[in-house]
Amino acid sequence: MKTALKTIFLRGRFTISVFVACLERAILPAILNSLKTKRLGQTHTQPEIAALIEALMAGTMADYQASAWLMAVCINGLTLDEVTWLTQAYVESGQTLDWSDLDGVVVDKHSTGGVGDKTTLVVVPLLAAAGVKVAKLSGRGLGFTGGTIDKLEAIPGFRADLSNEQIRAQLKTVGAVIGSQTQSLAPADGLLYALRDVTATVDCPTLIAASVVSKKIAAGAQTIVLDIKVGQGAFMKTLEEARHLAWLCQQIAGRLGRQLVTVLSSMEQPLGLAVGNALEVQEAVAVLKNEGPADVRQLAVRLAAHALVGAAVAPDLTEAEAILVPLLENGQAYQKFLALVAAQGGDVEALEDFNHLPQPDRISVLPASQTGYVSGIDSLKVAEAVQLMGGGRVTKNSPLNLGVGVLLHAKVGQRVKQGDVLAELYADNKHHLEALELLKQAFTFSNEPLEWLPPLILEE
Ligand code: URA
Repeated sequence: MKTALKTIFLRGRFTISVFVACLERAILPAILNSLKTKRLGQTHTQPEIAALIEALMAGTMADYQASAWLMAVCINGLTLDEVTWLTQAYVESGQTLDWSDLDGVVVDKHSTGGVGDKTTLVVVPLLAAAGVKVAKLSGRGLGFTGGTIDKLEAIPGFRADLSNEQIRAQLKTVGAVIGSQTQSLAPADGLLYALRDVTATVDCPTLIAASVVSKKIAAGAQTIVLDIKVGQGAFMKTLEEARHLAWLCQQIAGRLGRQLVTVLSSMEQPLGLAVGNALEVQEAVAVLKNEGPADVRQLAVRLAAHALVGAAVAPDLTEAEAILVPLLENGQAYQKFLALVAAQGGDVEALEDFNHLPQPDRISVLPASQTGYVSGIDSLKVAEAVQLMGGGRVTKNSPLNLGVGVLLHAKVGQRVKQGDVLAELYADNKHHLEALELLKQAFTFSNEPLEWLPPLILEE
């Protein structure tokens, strides 16, 4: 009996391995043909793109083949049809959430990634206070960009790993959720993103558009507001590149039945004064309490206004802002934030007493080396200093130090005297000297007042 079972088992294993080998032999030429198509700058058909993503998900396309295809796409591009099919294939590779049974429109907000960008922490409760439901599924930070979930996890107890049922329940009770994006949404994008990260194929507009739009569609919102960051501290370095990405995202979303609004905002200097997880939570709380830096407030209100218009709650941006600003002034937006944090297990006491948030080992001061006007603050250098101290991730699994960061005391255009405090470094003991040097390099000065200050919101 035992021998018979063993024979059946071995035969079964043999049959499966023969089947897999045959399948691989049948799939391989199709993958090679697709790689060649893109290498020669030719156009894929929809079935070809669907087959590539299916092979990726099934593990029959090797990482080196996927990497070769990504590089060919970056060099030779994708047509609008191709990038739409790619987005659709990403969406179909996983689960799609559906909130259509809930009352009203569910909106979502996304940023392509900046330095000091804590607007989500303001926009989400602000919209909920205005009666619009927000299901925001965010990623974690990687490289120079910070991640909303990392920022929120600076609040003791905060939980972002919610099930779909928990998200649905919280949308009904609080009206807003900020959860972590699970691998079940557009998982093909996750697999390709990991390869893009190590093959210099991240900053490719078509791949960014498919990546961003697919995750937003899978997360189920009907209206999406996309903040495209522009400048030296962003993926999109020029306005032309950002306009192209905005156009691509709108076209793809429109073709796949979603409304997507884009705002192009400047990343020529960090947004607000705080960079670093716990520090950014403090700054978001200040804005929600009708205090805090004007640029964070301006951008958050404008992004929320676009969502209100998209959700047909306000006829235009002026009326939308007239609804939103009082919600900051009367504390209702802040109360929504407290309700969201409490619903997700966070310690709301920590928002009233910041000593309960993660703390740095030490605070070092960067004095101005000269008298003059701050002519530039290099966002990437600031982000590098924070990352060096453990405030940002170098690789996907790097541990984070949530208490470190930079608190700016001056912004571009501001006059400073030699010795004035330019910034405080919330540092760890190990890297503070090196990080202070990086921070110093971030500042440039002019003897004359700046003739022109770049606007925060470049285009809408
Ligand atoms: N953010 C994303 O989600 N995907 C990209 O490709 C780039 C930024």
